[in-house]
Amino acid sequence: MLRFYKITLLANLLLFTGILQAETADWIWTARYVLTMDPARRIIEHGGVAIQGDRILAVGPRADIEAKYDAKARLDRGNAVIAPGLINTHTHAAMSLLRGIADDLRLREWLEKYIFPAEAKNVTPEFVRVGTRLACIEMLLSGTTTFTDMYYFEEEVAEAAKEAGMRGVLGQTIIGFPAPDAKTPADALKRAEAFLERYANDPLVVPAVAPHALYTNSDETLRDARTLANRHQAPILIHLSETRTENEDILAKRSKTPTAVLDSLGFFEGRTVAAHAVWVDEADRRILKERGVGVAHCPSSNMKLASGIAPVVAMLAEGISVGLGPDGPAGSNNDFNLFEEMDLAAKLQKVTAGDPRALPAMTALEMATIGGARVLGLDREIGSIEAGKRADLITVRLDAPHAEPLYNVASQMVYALKGSDVRDVMVNGEFVVRDRRHLRLNTAQVISQAIEIQGKIIASLRGTLFRGRDAKK
Ligand SMILES: [Zn+2]
Repeated sequence: MLRFYKITLLANLLLFTGILQAETADWIWTARYVLTMDPARRIIEHGGVAIQGDRILAVGPRADIEAKYDAKARLDRGNAVIAPGLINTHTHAAMSLLRGIADDLRLREWLEKYIFPAEAKNVTPEFVRVGTRLACIEMLLSGTTTFTDMYYFEEEVAEAAKEAGMRGVLGQTIIGFPAPDAKTPADALKRAEAFLERYANDPLVVPAVAPHALYTNSDETLRDARTLANRHQAPILIHLSETRTENEDILAKRSKTPTAVLDSLGFFEGRTVAAHAVWVDEADRRILKERGVGVAHCPSSNMKLASGIAPVVAMLAEGISVGLGPDGPAGSNNDFNLFEEMDLAAKLQKVTAGDPRALPAMTALEMATIGGARVLGLDREIGSIEAGKRADLITVRLDAPHAEPLYNVASQMVYALKGSDVRDVMVNGEFVVRDRRHLRLNTAQVISQAIEIQGKIIASLRGTLFRGRDAKK
């Protein structure tokens, strides 16, 4: 403590005499710990972060930061961790409005009997806007600052994300049957192109192309999607080898795995984020590694739909970038909480390998931060607290009974802390959640709009899906 005062005193003296000129910063955030996730994985006790505009100016011991910068505003969170905002690499945000509509079913049955019909009758621009607003509030309140989305009317997702102040890699869906926003894949490609053009230079949105999967698109559409994405230097988002049935069907039809088929189409020649990659063998993984395909691992979804266990330990050992995703909330999860995904990602690999060392806490944290950024090709901009990177930061409280005592910050983040311990969120230098209150959207109003749409969904499916439930009333 004495040393701290000495340093501060010396700095003030130097400032007073004009030897050391303090630089200005918009913000200084301080807390008991700063979890940087920088290359050395530094965890700074009594740390501080200086922020200017949309960037991090500096990170270091609190005394140094306070001596060097003159801040316009300050946030001292005391017993808390300042961490990089978490990165969700695969989700369908607007499906929040279908949360729990049908659970405990096989993926095919869940999709074809429930989700696709419910979507066909209800997915409008308003549905997508309200569903994404609800999802963004939920994601921000559990520490996610960047989400990767695949859905319809993606411009509504983009507008809702911007209203909420959230960063997004957002993919307009291309699917081989009539969709709510496009009658044909050709229409969907046109929509995707307009979307790529509209958000080409947005500070928060990275526009992407999202062909749903190999099994829902023709080879021609997949090739066109790749060409379109490359023409705009945009990433492609796709579901890959999620279930055993998907792999068996493709193998039976084409004598190749889905990964090998996509590779033969030249589909991986450009940035690609593949969601799930549960049923990928060694040869598939070699392709993913060679082509630089990033994988979005979705442990909750894979467990809930009994899709299988992705070979995450092998993928990481082989040098494939792996991030985390909650997938959709409509029956495959049913929430957007990356704290839960970190915990489950670690435990699922441990129980599978029969080895508690298989996926340690720090690796799970990497997947939710810098590893996720690498999957998206954004690791120079986000994923860690380093000077020059975008100011995407969260504070997490350490004063709850489940947070003390603390021996290891990474262990606490993954195995003990909850999404609800997140207190503040900054995205791109903008304060969006302060003291668990969203500063831009009216949370109560968004929830009531969501419930209103739920009423319309139930009415639209009366006589089909909700027959059983009506009879009970
Ligand atoms: Zn998905």
